[in-house]
Amino acid sequence: MSSNNIEADPKLLRIKSEFLLLKEKLIKAELSLAEIDAKLAKLAAYLQATEKGESLPDEAFVTLGIPKGSEWQGRMLLKIRLSGIIERTKTERQAVERNIGAMRDALESLYICPDCGGLGMLYGQRKYDRLDEGQIIPSSDYKTCSLCGGKGRITISI
Ligand SMILES: [Zn+2]
Repeated sequence: MSSNNIEADPKLLRIKSEFLLLKEKLIKAELSLAEIDAKLAKLAAYLQATEKGESLPDEAFVTLGIPKGSEWQGRMLLKIRLSGIIERTKTERQAVERNIGAMRDALESLYICPDCGGLGMLYGQRKYDRLDEGQIIPSSDYKTCSLCGGKGRITISI
């Protein structure tokens, strides 16, 4: 069997589908991180404007979920509301970022050969060599892992 023959080996096919699924989730998470960053930038601009005593556009109140004419449109309450939302959004961002880190690690670990665990070789049968003096010496022979061709890593072609 040739090494890295990903189409033929069911184990490698399973890894490939796992990889694709994870990759899709990662792309979604990265998009949501970009959305969170855009939201944070907007909220920071709203907060800055409020601190300067400027009025916010109508769109801002829609984003903040504050109905027109509500007491929350007052400067002090608006600052509190904005700060609270910014903190919550930052916490949410951290969680998404951690999730992205874990997914990247998981993707990276999928490249490790499942047969040899990254060693590039497999231990064969345990042999017992009897010396002339009657002593028995155990030894193991090993062979190059055929799945990864001794590289310890597999190629995931997409
Ligand atoms: Zn291997």
